Amino acid sequence: MCKMSTLAARLGALLQEQEQQIVEWRRHFHQYPELSFHEEKTPAMVAELLRQFGFDDVREKVGGRGVVGTLKGGQPGKTVALRADFDALPIQDLKEVPYKSKVPGVMHACGHDAHTSGLLGLAKILAHHREEIKGTIVFVFQHAEEENPGGAIAMVEDSALDGVDAIFGAHLWSSLPAGKVEIAAGPIMANTDDFTIEIKGKGGHGAVPQETVDSIVIGAQIVNNIQTIASRNVDPLESVVVTVGTFHAGDNFNVIASTCKMTGTLRSFLPEIRDLGERRLREIVEATAAMMGGSAVLEYDRGYPAVDNTEAEAEIVRQAALQVVGEENVLKMKPTMGGEDFSYYLQKVPGAYVFVGAGNPDKGAEYPHHHPMFDIDEKAMLISAEVLGRSALSFLEN
Ligand code: MN
Repeated sequence: MCKMSTLAARLGALLQEQEQQIVEWRRHFHQYPELSFHEEKTPAMVAELLRQFGFDDVREKVGGRGVVGTLKGGQPGKTVALRADFDALPIQDLKEVPYKSKVPGVMHACGHDAHTSGLLGLAKILAHHREEIKGTIVFVFQHAEEENPGGAIAMVEDSALDGVDAIFGAHLWSSLPAGKVEIAAGPIMANTDDFTIEIKGKGGHGAVPQETVDSIVIGAQIVNNIQTIASRNVDPLESVVVTVGTFHAGDNFNVIASTCKMTGTLRSFLPEIRDLGERRLREIVEATAAMMGGSAVLEYDRGYPAVDNTEAEAEIVRQAALQVVGEENVLKMKPTMGGEDFSYYLQKVPGAYVFVGAGNPDKGAEYPHHHPMFDIDEKAMLISAEVLGRSALSFLEN
């Protein structure tokens, strides 16, 4: 290896050398997945490895179950953070592979096992070559991304980003072919709020509606009326989604149900659309029920805020990705209404979140995230680690 070439330029080759190790870690995590807020063995193993790599400081139980490792380079400089999550989902693994989950009903169905393994590989390499690094790299291994309120907010409150100037993170994406990378500035993932609507009417005989207030009819009207938030209240050039996911009422065909309960989600990108959506939802729910002689209570829960990539950092990632996969494979990301608690880091420091393709039908990686057959092309871990590594080094250099 040419000694003159920069660490960034050698990163791809160095990651190749660690490929087997990274795959081994990933398959281990994949076999022993742990649910959000119940992670024990995973963070313990991450912390143990960071210590083995010779990190200056390894802090466990950050914000609950997170791990933060600090690596000081050979020369003073700025501080950049890299984040990976490590929780799994309550899904039964239906794949037939040697590394299938050994925990019934729990599965790494979103690729967080791979996020953590790829970042561990990068951590090992950068620790080994720390003399060449100008500045400090903070490795944030986060618990509980999948479940509100998420691990990120607690880790931020527990000083995970103290002294950090910028942060980068990546998500492997199975619907994007392996070898492609998507990045964009601005809001790329949504404010993800959820709501519960409880309707009170007056029950009675199904044949005597005039003596009742039918909660199911009120509920049906509410489901329709709240769609006007998207069609009539929000600027047609902005984005909002209002989805009712559950609707429960009644026990018998000839009985008018006295109560009805619905749950759903409201998603948006902009804070003002989020506020408008919540306000209109409440107004429509209450007024529709009152109009029909019943009442309804809305409970509105704000979840993760939108992931809002900063311009300069998104450009750093884009430039890094160009070096890794070539110009023809770097795409401008189309925002999605999915959510991610990476947003809490971005509320604290500038940064960018990037999507790295992990789909490959030849390797069984053709199912959507959170699907019981979900898998990834493991090569994507190297791409993701290299993009993050190059982004971090480029941020520190400039
Ligand atoms: Mn995920």
